[in-house]
Amino acid sequence: MAVIDTISSIRRDLIACERCPALRRYCRTVARVKRRAYRTHTYWGKPVPGFGDPNARLLLIGLAPAAHGGNRTGRVFTGDRSGDFLFAALHRAGFANQPDSTNRNDGLRLKDAYITAALHCAPPGNRPKPAELDRCRDYLVRELRALTRLRAVLALGKIAFDEYLKTLRRIGRLPARPGLRFEHGGSYILPGHQPLLFAAYHPSQQNTQTGRLTAAMFDSVLMEIKSGLRISKEKAD
Ligand code: SF4
Repeated sequence: MAVIDTISSIRRDLIACERCPALRRYCRTVARVKRRAYRTHTYWGKPVPGFGDPNARLLLIGLAPAAHGGNRTGRVFTGDRSGDFLFAALHRAGFANQPDSTNRNDGLRLKDAYITAALHCAPPGNRPKPAELDRCRDYLVRELRALTRLRAVLALGKIAFDEYLKTLRRIGRLPARPGLRFEHGGSYILPGHQPLLFAAYHPSQQNTQTGRLTAAMFDSVLMEIKSGLRISKEKAD
């Protein structure tokens, strides 16, 4: 009999994952040494699971937890500047009940959206190694199977975009070389009945502080997604 994977079983397995010993050592060290501003905080220090609505139609895929963000708070995009930008935008678009994300007990709830990452342990310098991404891809496979209502995927940055396509190829949902290129604001219809794929620059400080990614640019991508979800709902009705 097939075993049905759930978001809670994925979460349980992920938190206990030790497949990348160097990454695990790094995250534990960061959690022990801490940053001066957070010296009174108890860091999470474990792999950081995805978060959101298990019935979501929208999946957002980020890069990886930040050493003093998700690796500290235990929730993706929580407690760092990228998260401040992202959750404020999700709140404006109606996907989050509040604009702030400070800790994993702050009352934040996502509506019709789920957020995960290409890599679930904070990598040094925010630079994942290909072998680490390969090992962590199993979790995205499981999330894609468990999130059965998905209609749209938003890849935050090129790495997340490429990882999503590799994941689809791994599970046989996409031809070997679909020939798609990451482009901010891009939307992509994939073969079969795959969710619509959207792409945006990652809301890292490097992008948001330099003006490469503005709130208006990000809002515009979310509005396009909302319109795609509305059309897919009307078709289903
Ligand atoms: S990066 Fe992913 S595969 Fe590697 S230890 Fe963390 S959770 Fe496990």
